[in-house]
Amino acid sequence: MFRICSLFSGSSGNSTFIRMVNKPVSLLIDAGMSGKRIQAAMSLIGEDCASIDAILLTHEHIDHMAGIGVLVRRYKVPLYLSRITWDALQRMPVGVVPDELVNVFEPGDDFCIGDVSVKSFSVSHDSADCVGYSIRSESGSVSFLTDIGEMTPDVMAEISGSSAIFLESNYDRNMLFEGPYPWPLKRRIDGSRGHLSNEDCAQTVGLLLESGTENFILSHLSAENNTPDIAYSTTVSHMSANGARPGKDYKLQIAPRHIPGDPWVI
Ligand SMILES: [Zn+2]
Ligand SMILES: [Zn+2]
Repeated sequence: MFRICSLFSGSSGNSTFIRMVNKPVSLLIDAGMSGKRIQAAMSLIGEDCASIDAILLTHEHIDHMAGIGVLVRRYKVPLYLSRITWDALQRMPVGVVPDELVNVFEPGDDFCIGDVSVKSFSVSHDSADCVGYSIRSESGSVSFLTDIGEMTPDVMAEISGSSAIFLESNYDRNMLFEGPYPWPLKRRIDGSRGHLSNEDCAQTVGLLLESGTENFILSHLSAENNTPDIAYSTTVSHMSANGARPGKDYKLQIAPRHIPGDPWVI
């Protein structure tokens, strides 16, 4: 079983905690907030940064990497990231990351950290080499899929059957296209290398429920082009139209922007 919790979520910073229950394996997926704030968030949920065994980076955008350098240096935590993302990260304000703590892989690779296996997979996003992750143990798996411009059959195959998923629900299409963003930025967000809309998220949740996934944490909501209520109701409406009830047939949580969500044991 896993204890999972979003620490921060959205364009101001992303970091998610996952720990195996009863086994000494703790991971952070991304560290896109200052080291100090991630430490404080970990304390709030009763966890300790000193026990983190690895940080897995999805991509080099600032809202995913801002605290990486501090945490890696302070706690001597191994960093896992794709080879191309490592090249890109070194052009970001990350500071010194000791070579011996850097573990690079190719998207599609899997590797072990203690008793968990980690499967990486490519996702479409306008960074150097964005990946999603599926963390697997004998008792189940948790997937992480934020910053993705489009769902593809390959990605669906990687996340199908997950026990739980942190899934992007970035924007409401009406809010985006009627909002103040310049047209090129609207096209970028809505494009195949941008972000996932509430509607696309809802369809993905529906497919995942059919595959056996029952725990969903809607993540990386836009501050300008979405609200927690709209994201929640878009997915719940889609699911209700197919006869699935929140709290009964599946659990749904919105990852808060600035504070940790409710930790779940999956
Ligand atoms: Zn992001
Ligand atoms: Zn990004």
